[in-house]
Amino acid sequence: MTDFDKLKEDFTHYLESNRYRKTPERYAILRKIDAQEHLFSVYSLHSLMQAEFPVSLATIYNTLNMLVDCKLIIRHKFEEQIVMYEKKTSDVIMSNYTVCNECGKTTKFTDNNISKSVEKKIFAKFEPSHYSLYVFGLCNKCKQKKLPTKK
Ligand SMILES: [Zn+2]
Repeated sequence: MTDFDKLKEDFTHYLESNRYRKTPERYAILRKIDAQEHLFSVYSLHSLMQAEFPVSLATIYNTLNMLVDCKLIIRHKFEEQIVMYEKKTSDVIMSNYTVCNECGKTTKFTDNNISKSVEKKIFAKFEPSHYSLYVFGLCNKCKQKKLPTKK
């Protein structure tokens, strides 16, 4: 069984137990999400879908909400307006990202020291499930653009 088969099985189970329709659109969105290596937004997913399986923005929203609900993806809220999603894998439990203030590019990085200190932390009256750390700044590309041009 591939990772996608497992994902599909979990999603099918969720749709059936909630009596939602098992539409080809929903599975096409799931397949596209499975191919994503990084965070994605509703809009980036929507534009990715247009080439092979055009779906409406409403369908994307709807399906993402279902996938968050059945815990197959994670919703990241950066600020009021910015919401990104990510497929859930075992290493998502501990995730660190750099986020560019200009272009929004997100890159994952690992840092065992951070992971270990979160793991060791004991929370009062709270059971942690996962954590995300965001380091905001400027990516190299945007930094280059901001440099004054030499004459
Ligand atoms: Zn940038």
